[in-house]
Amino acid sequence: MQDTPLTIGRLVAHGTTFHGTSTVSTWTGEGFRTATYAELGRRAARLANALRSLGIDGDQRVATFMWNNQEHLEAYLAVPGMGAVLHTLNIRLFPEQVTYVANHAEDRIVICDGSLVGLLARVLDTFETVEHVLVVGDDDWSELEGKGAQLHRYEALLDAADDAFEWVNDIDENDAAAMCYTSGTTGNPKGVAYSHRSMTLHSMAGAMGDAMGLKPTDSVLTIVPQFHAMAWGLPYAAMMVGASLVMPDRHLQPEPLLEMMLEARPTFAGAVPTIWQGLLPLLDEREADISFLSEVIVGGSACPESLMRAFEERHGVRLIHAWGMTETSPLGSVARPPVGTGDPWSFRITQGRFMAAVEPRLVGEDGSELPLDGESVGELEVRGPWIAAAYYADDDPEKFHDGWLRTGDVGRITAGGYLTLTDRSKDVIKSGGEWISSVDLENALMAHPAVAEAAVVGIPDEKWGERPLASVVVRDGEDVSVEDLRDFLADRIPKWQLPDSWAFIDEVPKTSVGKFDKKVLRQRYAEEELEVVRAG
Ligand code: AMP
Repeated sequence: MQDTPLTIGRLVAHGTTFHGTSTVSTWTGEGFRTATYAELGRRAARLANALRSLGIDGDQRVATFMWNNQEHLEAYLAVPGMGAVLHTLNIRLFPEQVTYVANHAEDRIVICDGSLVGLLARVLDTFETVEHVLVVGDDDWSELEGKGAQLHRYEALLDAADDAFEWVNDIDENDAAAMCYTSGTTGNPKGVAYSHRSMTLHSMAGAMGDAMGLKPTDSVLTIVPQFHAMAWGLPYAAMMVGASLVMPDRHLQPEPLLEMMLEARPTFAGAVPTIWQGLLPLLDEREADISFLSEVIVGGSACPESLMRAFEERHGVRLIHAWGMTETSPLGSVARPPVGTGDPWSFRITQGRFMAAVEPRLVGEDGSELPLDGESVGELEVRGPWIAAAYYADDDPEKFHDGWLRTGDVGRITAGGYLTLTDRSKDVIKSGGEWISSVDLENALMAHPAVAEAAVVGIPDEKWGERPLASVVVRDGEDVSVEDLRDFLADRIPKWQLPDSWAFIDEVPKTSVGKFDKKVLRQRYAEEELEVVRAG
């Protein structure tokens, strides 16, 4: 067989020519601005030429500080396509973390959304290697002036550049094409470098029928941020199969999201459970018909069964649960039920079946490998062609050993390859020597009609070592007592696992990518900021 390197350049050429009539549509808040993939290809070529003229060469890093939109997609194509490395900066990190990652990655150029000029201005003069900032849009950029970087209007640069570029394919497919830093809540973020090979294989596998199952006729709404784990591979997979893309830009609240969906009628979407949780009451209230949205890939944190059922039974939308990490590109497993089995829900609610080429193993507390029997619980480790082998320019021997990535996730795997996560290893609650799954408790609590959100953490207990504390957000206009909730749980959870400490809170604190931030809850408890009710 021919030894053809798998490159993003080839993916770009394919998508923008052979799928040239497919489109990317960006929501402006009032309507869509739309470009065909052919136009996108020409604009990406202009961007690549502009970046070259600013000195970008070899594997230099070009950062984006952007919402999900057409211009961000242009960077997705142009930067790896020209052989450079795309670094998607997370706009929601704390300023000192943004500084850390931009300096650690040695970014040379930042492409910044006009609406984020103010945010970038807070950190730009701490960026040690950034020479140029390209501002998308004609927003006032005076706040960025005098901060050490040369400023350019993105459109002006594109206008002045040639619209043909020979995508770079004559490279080692293992070279870095993009990088993303983990949104980890402890220590400095860690960089993961995705290679041309890993991204090509991940896009192919992600598009397959047992994963996201994308088709040229699909219209894919990418809500998961493009700065989070390359938007779960949706943009590249869509370009590969010719599915059209719908981008929400900064309009991520339930009302504008719904308005945008009703206008664009996407057939497929991807977002964390929090987004769907926020949208559900609005859909119920408006009795909006979004059944055009046939499937949604949902992951990043555990998706409660009650949420999946509500979408499917009340709105005709199928939520497909998936598991992954920044370090796994991110798709690792997708919960589509096997053929010829009884109750599909028993598989749908798992974190899914491992994708071909992603190998899992479970490791016990003593380091021994555990059987994949659906019962043994241990830490999940994975390996495969789109799993990180190390962090970029960082040492973390804890995380990688003998060719495996230690995920920090705890759970069980069936002989058929379905993963069920019970916890993050740092969130595990150990009570009297037995593990209590915070995820099981949260899912059971969020099935209560009066509960909008629930997060469970372990708190120190003299007798048992640790006991669960449930923090509950009650839906607007509802009223529910601890006794009601304990009674509700009693049918679903063994009695000894029921939380004996409860707090009613306004909102569960979230990380920069919308996951429950349990570290903050534990801290609030330790600092006695939570009003705790004891029961049981
Ligand atoms: P990140 O790298 O920020 O995407 O975080 C990855 C982590 O998110 C994983 O290690 C899991 O702990 C968590 N995660 C991702 N998908 C799921 C899921 N479907 N269910 C539960 N946790 C998940």
